[in-house]
Amino acid sequence: MNPWALLYDAYDPDNEGLQEALCTLGNGYLATRGAAAEAQADDIHYPGTYVAGLYNRLGTEVADRTVENEDLVNLPNWLPLTFRVADGPWFSIDDVEVLSFRRELDLRRGELTRQVEVRDGEGRETLVTERRFVSMHDRHLAAQRVGILPRNWSGTFTVRAGVDAGVVNAGVPRYRELRGDHHQRVASGEDGEVVFAQVETKQSHVRVALAARITVSGNGDIALTSRRFVDDGGLVAQDFVLTATPGRSVTVEKVVALHTSRDTAISESLLDARARVVRAAGYEPLLEQHVMAWGQLWRRFDIAIDDSDRTQMIIRLHLFHLLQTASPHTMDLDVGVPARGWHGEAYRGHIFWDELFIFPLLNLRLPVLTRSLLLYRFRRLDQARWAARADGHRGAMYPWQSGSNGREETQQLHLNPKSGRWLPDHSHLQRHVNIAIAYNVWQYFQVTGDMAFLRHYAAPMLLEIARFLADLATFNTALNRYEMRGVMGPDEYHESYPDRDEPGLDNNTYTNVMTVWVLMRAFEVLEHVAEYQRAEICQMMALGDEELDRWGDITRKMVVAFHDDGTGRQVMSQFQGYERLEEFDWQGYRARYGDIARLDRILEAEGDSTNRYRLSKQPDTLMLFFLLSGREIGELFDRLGYEFNENDIHRTIDYYSARTSHGSTLSKVVHSWVLAREDRARSWEFFCQALEADISDVQGGTTPEGIHLGAMVGSVDLLLRGYGGIETRGDVLRFKPQVPEELGAVSFDLSYRSQQLHVRIEPNRLVIVSEPAPVAPVRIAVAGHERSLAPGERIEVALRS
Ligand code: BGC
Repeated sequence: MNPWALLYDAYDPDNEGLQEALCTLGNGYLATRGAAAEAQADDIHYPGTYVAGLYNRLGTEVADRTVENEDLVNLPNWLPLTFRVADGPWFSIDDVEVLSFRRELDLRRGELTRQVEVRDGEGRETLVTERRFVSMHDRHLAAQRVGILPRNWSGTFTVRAGVDAGVVNAGVPRYRELRGDHHQRVASGEDGEVVFAQVETKQSHVRVALAARITVSGNGDIALTSRRFVDDGGLVAQDFVLTATPGRSVTVEKVVALHTSRDTAISESLLDARARVVRAAGYEPLLEQHVMAWGQLWRRFDIAIDDSDRTQMIIRLHLFHLLQTASPHTMDLDVGVPARGWHGEAYRGHIFWDELFIFPLLNLRLPVLTRSLLLYRFRRLDQARWAARADGHRGAMYPWQSGSNGREETQQLHLNPKSGRWLPDHSHLQRHVNIAIAYNVWQYFQVTGDMAFLRHYAAPMLLEIARFLADLATFNTALNRYEMRGVMGPDEYHESYPDRDEPGLDNNTYTNVMTVWVLMRAFEVLEHVAEYQRAEICQMMALGDEELDRWGDITRKMVVAFHDDGTGRQVMSQFQGYERLEEFDWQGYRARYGDIARLDRILEAEGDSTNRYRLSKQPDTLMLFFLLSGREIGELFDRLGYEFNENDIHRTIDYYSARTSHGSTLSKVVHSWVLAREDRARSWEFFCQALEADISDVQGGTTPEGIHLGAMVGSVDLLLRGYGGIETRGDVLRFKPQVPEELGAVSFDLSYRSQQLHVRIEPNRLVIVSEPAPVAPVRIAVAGHERSLAPGERIEVALRS
């Protein structure tokens, strides 16, 4: 098996959507699903082209109210390229006999090829070959090359190639009752070899222009009789009438430029798209530059393992999709990282807490990219301040789902496809998204030591989040402790108490403990900056001693709920009152339903609710052990005056993992991580399952709607930071490797404090080589032993297995 290729060797209409999502090509600015060139949206195919952060809002009447949703917009499709013989039907793979099929995504080169041999109803056999890429060199360019080889027929045939501006958002069946007609055409036409179309989104008024330069060539002379402009429905194309000769192929090349009115350094999107496409080189020279750009990315990002080619390939596939979602081309865009990539319309291209699973890996490879992605949050700080105020709080309250301007974009109603009911959605109560943002800001600073960032961006964000979280906390005099009421933790299967009308839970342990962590970091931020800067920040925020004292008090007196785990010993409660919930009949439900990952839908359809049971969709309390080391947790609990030791951690993991349905793909990543040291075999099992999430579409139909980027990157990060035991804390890069035997040796590059490090972890030794560079030495600790490493130096440490 080629560890650099995702390969499909049979046409499988049932899995076409999955292949389209996994074969998406993108460059961090623009992404196009791997739909066939001749395909149009129907029950099998779904072409989709998206630009990072390009959203539009539309209102729809649902369940007697108007709901407004902000969607990542499906833009004009640049792929259309098909043919027909004489006046016959246009080629569609679904109407002919498929003699052979091969679709290959070359991960190293970022090129997608599809080769199909077909026989039509008249016995005509044709080989159709398509290659395409979305340029990683010039983010506004994409190209496609289609070969049509008549095997046994001759006569007149027509090739049609162009762009389809008539597309709408219809990629997620659950959303189809909602409006999806996000744009309208404002211009179209042809100019010599170029056809073009420009649309404008209806509410956000972004103009998007595509210009396609189309050329036709053949082996030997091709008999091209005519070239004709077509404007048919939404399609803007050219028809080429040709004469076919058996064994002589015709090649159609399309180079496409895309600009939006949001782009910098342009005059007007259509003008610039047309100018760019005329200047662009042809397919092969453009491909060469594109492959070079990918080569540079792979040098920094690849992780090589000694294990099976399949595991290696999946790891690369995950890195590939990360880089197609966020790349150096994303750096000057005002976007965050969407939970589902720019690969489909699930979750509407929104930005969630999932960045928490993505940024740590980016920090250690291309921190300048994380910096720019964090600025997406910084620019929406005012909106978050406003949201906090509107909710009766101080500080900044970031939204659970974020899109264009940082308003809360979580849908107000969601559809349970199992019951057909539209239900209120309370998931916006996951205030812990603020913790994730603070965590990401802090981690970036730990890896880079970027003081300018700390002063100008991290401090305002982290301190305003700290202020908001502290304001959520209320003092309970009876307990002599602070409480946080009415929030949701990461486990979305608990939105409220079974016997309480209003949504929200009290004292979610993850939120409470991490609030203390955030407040501690807020103090550290103030210690790290110069005294005059501290004064400036405090003045700007009107942050005085009284408020800081209260924060300090919270860090010593936040309440954490515990309950008896059934053996007479205490475990942390996911939230206060968790022990009053009923135990769930896991066996019975598994027997009845088989796959019970989406217990929320199953129980609601039965007229029941997940709120009533001790079950969870995904790790909630266990997230603490994912984000913090045992030592850090120990310090926090000491400070709070609770006794909690290593054994308690193990029991807590066992308790909650026995009650998790893994309804989120993030779940297996976290389980593998938290078990890495305690139970290697189970950790490995979860790791392998996490790798399968998208490639095998384990949720049975969600991947076609968009990849799960948090789980994709989280699974790779398991190799890097999880099994590598890599931690960046207190100006030291720490390694405590524990690589599973199954993986053999692991090699990768790291970027730490401007040093580029080549790391190789073998079962018995760790080797780190630093690239020569004019930068300062760094501190490295291996299994607790600290030393300095200067650029150009190499260290080798024996490991005990
Ligand atoms: C998970 C969330 C996640 C979201 C987007 C949900 O299914 O429960 O934790 O943020 O998907 O990936």
